Amino acid sequence: MTLGGTLAGLATAAGLEFTAPHSVLAQSKLSPNAALKELMDGNQRFISGRMTSHELDLAILKQNTVDKQEPFAAVLSCADSRVPVELVFDQSIGHVFVARVAGNVVTPEIIASLEYGAAVLGTKVILVMGHANCGAVKATIQGKEVPGQISALFPIFDLR
Ligand SMILES: [Zn+2]
Repeated sequence: MTLGGTLAGLATAAGLEFTAPHSVLAQSKLSPNAALKELMDGNQRFISGRMTSHELDLAILKQNTVDKQEPFAAVLSCADSRVPVELVFDQSIGHVFVARVAGNVVTPEIIASLEYGAAVLGTKVILVMGHANCGAVKATIQGKEVPGQISALFPIFDLR
């Protein structure tokens, strides 16, 4: 039995109303300001090294997201491996709807994904997260020849 299940069972046996930890509940019921605060608070926990998302009961989170998802926020982030969104905001399964692309640029597909998150899933805030030392931005600025279809990202950055 999982820890969360054990606590629920004990609470029920004791005649108490079980209240799940805030992060296990449907997040889309948060206000936009509360959703943004949840992300910022999570980022502060990440920065301070006091993350709590790993303490959440993954079994409950998985079970709650089998048939539906109710992420409280959407994040557009670079695909860079150094900015893992869930870790950076100390979140877990079902909490954040993430669109990632090199350079965190907006394409019609990315906009469609973020619209799906807001209009269908009910995300209350959309956060666009850039980062330092972005290889996609550097490559665009350098304008050198690159292999494959990497250069498809360049026009998106071009502000001329
Ligand atoms: Zn980047």
